[in-house]
Amino acid sequence: MRIPPSRRKPPRPTSTGTADAVAGFFRKATVSADIVTPLTGVDVLLADLDGVVYAGPAAIPFAVESLNRAAETVRVGYITNNASRTDQSVANHLTELGLTVGATDVVTSPQAAVRLLAGEVPAGARILVVGGEGLVSEVEKAGFVVTRSADDNPAAVIQGFAPDVGWAHLAEASFALSPDGPTAGIPWIATNTDWTIPVARGIAPGNGTLVSAVHTAVGRLPIVAGKPEAAIFVEAINRFGASTALFIGDRLDTDILGANRAGIPAVLVLTGIDKAKQALAADADSRPAFLLTDLRQLHEPYPETVFSKDGATATVAGASVSIRGNTVEITNDGDGGINLLRAACAAIWNSGRPIYGLNVPERLYAAQ
Ligand SMILES: [Mg+2]
Repeated sequence: MRIPPSRRKPPRPTSTGTADAVAGFFRKATVSADIVTPLTGVDVLLADLDGVVYAGPAAIPFAVESLNRAAETVRVGYITNNASRTDQSVANHLTELGLTVGATDVVTSPQAAVRLLAGEVPAGARILVVGGEGLVSEVEKAGFVVTRSADDNPAAVIQGFAPDVGWAHLAEASFALSPDGPTAGIPWIATNTDWTIPVARGIAPGNGTLVSAVHTAVGRLPIVAGKPEAAIFVEAINRFGASTALFIGDRLDTDILGANRAGIPAVLVLTGIDKAKQALAADADSRPAFLLTDLRQLHEPYPETVFSKDGATATVAGASVSIRGNTVEITNDGDGGINLLRAACAAIWNSGRPIYGLNVPERLYAAQ
């Protein structure tokens, strides 16, 4: 791991009361003359793909131009849990959308999984691969020998999603990992354990369901490389030589949790899975350092959060939200949009109370 100690924690909030109780919230105030954006001080910007850059085949509004603009001043890299595509095919897709991306700018969960594999088995070992081209090519690139059969006495099993993974592949993994078989106890590495995968026709079962099928047969769990585990972030930080990275994601339970675990400040952008309601309810491990409506705000001043002395009221650029007893009270709408949501998150998160114990005004759920 090459995460400098100074970046192991997301930025702290401005504190005038009990705000220090908030884990991982907004950037520290600086001299007021400085314009502070989410990119201030960042050397490498890492972005999730689905829900951040594209939705299905099409680009998300403002994502491409905002990332191209960021690339003028910082290194931009991309992180994906999807194990079925190679880095090159992801780069080609991003290039078609108008980004300038090469294969080496894309960090995939198979790459992180193979890095973990290399720490578990000798060089050149025979590996049982469950998965598609994206995974096979990374295993081979690293000098391992690919097999599809448990009868070849593999040194490890590596498992990732591909649309053609079927029962026969899962059965081979199960035989190789069987506690009663000749290769009992060998390492088992999963690229990711996403329960679902968005595809053109809708939501389909993800790699987590296929890992779970093997788990049911063998009674143990794999080591996981992808988000929300830290390995994929560590792979990215090492590759890009980042010392002050910033990560952008659209899911609290994988992107933001994973970045927090890896010590990288995270942006939650509301263009994908998680919206205001999920942000307000985020548990302490899954709170972003920044909340953005869309990626244009990467380049806009990010207002500081100011807490009242008792910590019950949070104010962001004129939007104020207070916790009074069990009630979340909007004391000033401000812009009624993202700053209101930022203030509400700050007040609720700082209260240390779970959202189900609070009365939350409906209109906060629409704020963005
Ligand atoms: Mg996503």
